[in-house]
Amino acid sequence: MLSEKLCKAFNAQINAELWSAYLYLSMSMDAAARGQKGVANWFKIQFQEEQAHAEIMMNHVLSRGNEVKLAPIDAVQTEWKNALEAFRDTLVHEKKVTSLITALYELAIEEKDYPAQNMLKWFIDEQVEEEESAQEIIDQLDAVEDNKYGLLMIDKELATRVFNVPSPLAKGE
Ligand code: MG
Repeated sequence: MLSEKLCKAFNAQINAELWSAYLYLSMSMDAAARGQKGVANWFKIQFQEEQAHAEIMMNHVLSRGNEVKLAPIDAVQTEWKNALEAFRDTLVHEKKVTSLITALYELAIEEKDYPAQNMLKWFIDEQVEEEESAQEIIDQLDAVEDNKYGLLMIDKELATRVFNVPSPLAKGE
């Protein structure tokens, strides 16, 4: 079983992942309203990924014989000036999530909880990818500035993103 302290921290992180999902769904809807179908697609996939992150953590809590307690999800921003602003906010947000995951991992070490440490290692790697992909898109958007053709090309590329079931869920962990 997870210690009471660790279980509480996992439940808080489940809420944070679901809040992230809601944030990205909001970014997706905002991009759709601007007519950027590719950007809207990218954020929709991001929304699905965050839901999967919450699910991986919920599965872990249940596997350990603890209870998941779902808390209310706070409101999210609903409008961004453009795609660049949304991706900049994404990077800031992902850096914050990285620090939350790191703190959770450190708590799992303190509590000498090895199964929790193992599952959190996947999230630590995942956060490296999250920050890297947000940064890559920011760089592309920065490079084209207000060039409409460039923005269209980026939108077309973002339209190709598909949802891949994260490995811990695919393995049924
Ligand atoms: Mg996440």
